[in-house]
Amino acid sequence: MIAEVYPIMRMPRRFGIFDYEFPEEKTILRGTFVRIPFRFGETMGVVARVKEGGGRGIKLKQIASVFEEILPFSDAELSAIEDIAFDVAQSVSTILYASVPKLTKRELKFAQNDSVPLTIPAREAPSITLAASQVGQRAASFVAMPDVRRSCVLLTAYLREHPDEPVMALLPNVRDAKLIASRLGGFSPIVVTGEETPLERARAWRAWRACKTGLLIGTRTAALWTHPALGAIFLLRSGHPNHKQDERNPRFDARAVAEILRIRLHARVIYVDVAPRADDLATLDPIDLLGPRTRPPSAVADMNVERFGAPHPRIGQSALLRIAETLSTRRRVLCAYNLKGVSRRLQCADCSYRFPCLSCGGVFASYGQTIQCHRCGRIEPMPLSCPSCNGSRLAARGYGNRAVAAALQTLFPEATVRCVEKGTDPAGSDQSDILVVTRHYYENIFDPFQPPNVGLVVDLDADLPLYEPTMRAVEHAILNMEEWRGVANACRADFLVQTEVPDLFRSIFSERDRVLSDDLTTRQAYGQPPFRRICMIRFRSSEPHERDHALRAMSDRIREGVPTAMISDGENLRVSIPPEDKNLLFEIFSNADDGYIIDTRPLE
Ligand SMILES: [Zn+2]
Ligand SMILES: [Zn+2]
Repeated sequence: MIAEVYPIMRMPRRFGIFDYEFPEEKTILRGTFVRIPFRFGETMGVVARVKEGGGRGIKLKQIASVFEEILPFSDAELSAIEDIAFDVAQSVSTILYASVPKLTKRELKFAQNDSVPLTIPAREAPSITLAASQVGQRAASFVAMPDVRRSCVLLTAYLREHPDEPVMALLPNVRDAKLIASRLGGFSPIVVTGEETPLERARAWRAWRACKTGLLIGTRTAALWTHPALGAIFLLRSGHPNHKQDERNPRFDARAVAEILRIRLHARVIYVDVAPRADDLATLDPIDLLGPRTRPPSAVADMNVERFGAPHPRIGQSALLRIAETLSTRRRVLCAYNLKGVSRRLQCADCSYRFPCLSCGGVFASYGQTIQCHRCGRIEPMPLSCPSCNGSRLAARGYGNRAVAAALQTLFPEATVRCVEKGTDPAGSDQSDILVVTRHYYENIFDPFQPPNVGLVVDLDADLPLYEPTMRAVEHAILNMEEWRGVANACRADFLVQTEVPDLFRSIFSERDRVLSDDLTTRQAYGQPPFRRICMIRFRSSEPHERDHALRAMSDRIREGVPTAMISDGENLRVSIPPEDKNLLFEIFSNADDGYIIDTRPLE
C-alpha cells in the first residue's frame, strides 16, 4: 500500500505530498500521524490519502512508524487544514507545521492552572445568560460585550449549557488569554499563547486532542488547533488586528480560520467585542447580533463649540466641569488620549480652520495627493491653501499627552496628575487623581476584573481613528470609543466623548448598526472588502530590477487568468477581485515561487 503524506515542516507553497510504502496489516488512514524518513533524517507527517500499489519494483521509502497514541485528524479536520492552506496561499505542510508541535517522548501530564473566582454584578447576569443561550441556537453570531470580563462570563454560561463540547476561545493578546484563563480554572483550560516551551506546547496539544470535552484558550496560534468534535469557537475582542498574523508566514487571520472550521467541522462561531465590525453586519443577520445594550451614562461634547474659550484645545468646558465634579466626590478621572493619528489632523496653522467634509461634516484622512472622508466617501485633492484665511501653512497640529497632562495639572493644582504611556512605570498610577492614558493602558494595565475607583472616563479626542487612511476608519472610531466606554462601564463611571463630529458619535450611541451599515454602503461603492477580496503581493529581492520583473510576470498571469481582477502596480501588487473569483486567483498563487510574499487578507 502507498500513503501520500504531508511532511510537517515549512515547505514551499508548490510542494504537495510525498509517497511512502507501508505493509497492508498496518492501519493507516487519511489523517494518521506518522513518522517518515525525509531527506537525510526523519520527520513527522500526516497521511493525506492511501492508495493501492507499491511492492512491484517501485522503490519507495517506508513509513517508519505510526503515532498510535495520538488521535488522528478526522477527514473534516484535515480538509479544514487544506482549506486554510489554500486560503493563505501556503503549502499544507507549512500550515501543519504552524499547528502541530514537535512531539517527543518526554511529555508529562498537562499542568492545571489555579483559579480566581469570576464574579459579575448581579444586575448584569441575566442579560449575559440570555445571550449565552441565544448563541447556542445559532451557527454564527456576534455578541456585544463591554469588556473581557463580561465576555468571560458569557463563555462560562455557554460552557455550563454545553458541558459535552470542546470549546475554543481565541484572544488577540497573551495578557487577555492569561486574564481569562485565570478566571476559568474550574474548567481546567488548556492554554496556548506562543510563550510556552516546545515541551509545554506539545503537552498542551496532546491534552487538547485527547479530551472529549474541554476548553482551549489561546492567541491566534490556537486557531490552527482543530479538534474533531469542536463545538464552538469564541473570538473574543473579535475586531482586534492581532487576530491576523501580519508579519510572517503563514499570514492567516483567526477570523477566517474560524469561518473555515465552522463550515468543515460544523463548529459554532461566536464573535464577541465592544461593537461589531462592518464585516459582521455583512455576514450576519440582524437577529444574530446579540448582547446587552445597557451602557453607562454617556455624553458628547461638541469641540467645534467648546474649543472657543477652552483652557486647552483638548480640554473642553464640559470636561472641565465633569472632572471638577468627579474629583469633589473623591473619585478618580481617566482621560484617554491615543497618540496614534494625532499628527494626521489636517488644519490651518494660522487660523485653525479644520477642513470639515462639505457633504457630511466628517473629517478628512490624508492620502498624500488626495484627502478622503471615510464617513461618506468624498474624495478631494489635497488643498493648497486655507479657504478661511488664504494661509498656506496647512500643517497638522498635534498636542502631546504630556502637554495635556501639564494643562490639567495647572487647572487642578490640588490634584495629582499622571501620564501613563508605553515605557512609564505603572506603579503608583492607581493613586493619582487624574490619569492621562494611551492605548497602552487599555491593552496592558487596565484589568476589568479589578477595575480602579474611577468616576469619570473622558475620551479626549474620539476622532483620531477617523484620520487614519484606512477604509476601517469609521469602524475603528466606533471600536476605540466603545472600548473606553467599556472601561467606564467596568468602573461604574460616567463617560464623556470629545469630538468635532458630534452627530456621528450621537448616532453611534443611538443607532450603532445603522452607522455601520452606512459604512458598508460606502465600502460597496468604492469596491472595498467585504464586497471585493484584496490581496497584496510583494517579491523578496534586493534587486529592484528582478523584483519589478517578477511582479510584472505575476501581474500578467493574473490579468490572463482572472479577467475581473483589478491590479494596482507599484512596489507591491494590490489585486482586487470579486469574492466569487477567489479560486481562479488562488490557483495561480498555489503555483507561485516562494519569492512572492502573498497576503490574502491584508489589514487595510
Ligand atoms: Zn486659515
Ligand atoms: Zn463626508
